[in-house]
Amino acid sequence: MTVNSGNRLKVLYSREEIEAAINRLAEKIALEYRGRNPVLIGVLKGSFIFMSDLVRRLDFPLEMEFVRLSSYGSSTESSGKIKLEHSVKTTIKGKDVLVVEDIVDTGLSLTFLMDYLKKKKPATLKLCCLMDKPSRRKAPVTIHYSGFIVPDQFLVGYGLDYAEQYRNLPDICILEGEK
Ligand code: 5GP
Ligand code: MG
Repeated sequence: MTVNSGNRLKVLYSREEIEAAINRLAEKIALEYRGRNPVLIGVLKGSFIFMSDLVRRLDFPLEMEFVRLSSYGSSTESSGKIKLEHSVKTTIKGKDVLVVEDIVDTGLSLTFLMDYLKKKKPATLKLCCLMDKPSRRKAPVTIHYSGFIVPDQFLVGYGLDYAEQYRNLPDICILEGEK
């Protein structure tokens, strides 16, 4: 793929490794949620590819919703000021809710979102993230299903962007030359 000037990409997780991780996650999620018609809530935009690959490995009835959060600050750092740009459109009261996120970094976005969703009184509320970057955590987040523990580097691809670029990379890559 053509890379913007000044940036270099190094593959951290190949598409095959991502697929294997999602298979493992889907097996565990199926054990817990089969027969419960859960609502999976994807966090846009980063989780759109992860969500679409994950749900196609879950062969039981479920519903899908999407939320969109925005934070203010520079493009590679989360500032901690989180706003909900788009919320769930169906009622989640009394339902089993599983939030699907691309990466938990400082934890500020997910702390905000989980608190917000909790107020809507779901029967259960859990979190599945493809990547966990624990080294930068500012707010503690309980992650129930996690694909990879990742190093403190800026990652792009498989839904993750830098300035809206690179979401379409099939692998998860380290973006070098930024930050
Ligand atoms: P947090 O609030 O946990 O700091 O940030 C969560 C959001 O920041 C993620 O959902 C993701 O959109 C973005 N983010 C955190 N780390 C990275 C990264 O390494 N690469 C990219 N592209 N986005 C990241
Ligand atoms: Mg995200």
